[in-house]
Amino acid sequence: MNPPNGPAPGSWVPGANEPGTDFPIQNLPFGVFRLANGPPRAGVAIGAEIVDLSAAHSAGLFRGVAGEAAAACTEGSLNRLMALGIEHAGALRDRLAELLSDRTFESRLRPALRPMSAAEMLLPAEIGDYTDFYASLHHATNVGSMFRPDNPLLPNYRWIPVAYHGRASSIVISGTAVKRPRGQIFEEAAGRPSFAPSRLLDYELEVGVFVGRGNALGQPVPVGRASQHIFGLCLVNDWSARDMQKWEYQPLGPFLAKNFATTISPWIVPWQALEPFRVPAFARPTADPEPLPHLYSAEDQGHGGIDLTLEVSLCSRSMREQSIAPARVSRGSFRDMYWTVAQMIAHHTSNGCNLRPGDLIASGTVSGAGRESSGCLLERTWRGTEPLQLPTGEERKFLEDGDEVIFRGYCERAGVARIGFGECRGIILSA
Ligand code: MN
Repeated sequence: MNPPNGPAPGSWVPGANEPGTDFPIQNLPFGVFRLANGPPRAGVAIGAEIVDLSAAHSAGLFRGVAGEAAAACTEGSLNRLMALGIEHAGALRDRLAELLSDRTFESRLRPALRPMSAAEMLLPAEIGDYTDFYASLHHATNVGSMFRPDNPLLPNYRWIPVAYHGRASSIVISGTAVKRPRGQIFEEAAGRPSFAPSRLLDYELEVGVFVGRGNALGQPVPVGRASQHIFGLCLVNDWSARDMQKWEYQPLGPFLAKNFATTISPWIVPWQALEPFRVPAFARPTADPEPLPHLYSAEDQGHGGIDLTLEVSLCSRSMREQSIAPARVSRGSFRDMYWTVAQMIAHHTSNGCNLRPGDLIASGTVSGAGRESSGCLLERTWRGTEPLQLPTGEERKFLEDGDEVIFRGYCERAGVARIGFGECRGIILSA
């Protein structure tokens, strides 16, 4: 009983059937918003509108499992809905698809619609823990070759989905300005570090996974059951200060180079909406080892990838002043990741570590094989040796104050409705 994924069925909501919309009835992503500094409300995006779930619930439009799910959305955070599991979220989604496609419900649901243009988006959940993976072989190889030319890819890479524990407290919603961090930077000429604003500030284009139902401590999630624990996906910008990172990252991995801010997009695209865009997992080079049994499932190898196109655009202060549109600097696909989302979850829990509803798992920088599909400036400009040219004639090696970084993501396939992730944006303020 998934919402129709063919292109034919539409919605009575104006704008939901526009060819380029990110939010047709086949998507129905969850988020949290508020109007005019009012209280936070859980909502679902449709076209250019938001269904206020509390208001729709009060209108008596949900019953049974869908009703229990809607009742869990009345607190202005999605954690309770996430905790109920995918059957509940799926039932709510199915019922919303029915209400939004059948005109006989229009008069009862319309009072619960809010214009997206008037809404301020908030973090969709209380994020207890945040883990960032490193799942692109291309990214790991490129970055490794810059930081360790003689030893780019560490021997564990093809066996373990490598990750570090990030910081949940500094996760911010799209549109929040990001202050350039200060930190220790090793100065080659002086032979010692200084404490200064980062000079090599970068973005990392990533996909985030919100955990739905958690697992009990000591109870690993098998790779074949990982999708039961996925609520949905969003876009993530793992802002990174490369100069601080280079000095601090050994022996325990990134710390202050990354935990000053992480930006996420506001809409969580349900796992079910991505079903038509599932593709085989990344084709490993034949010389690579097969994943160990706890990271292997035939179903995951056959359908564990997601054909999600991801784009990065930049807009400098000078471009804004001249009303020049943001310039696209890269385009890649989430299908190029070496490890699948299910393998990340299986690995994360394989020692008994418990995930909880609302935890955020990020994929690591999504980079493809070519320079144009690089998910960060470090790779895109090859450590600044190949600067980008902006439409104003400005050059970019790393981010300057006033630069705005905009991520977009969307899934397209012939014969199926296009769905989008909206935007993940952030502007850099001076230190
Ligand atoms: Mn990262």
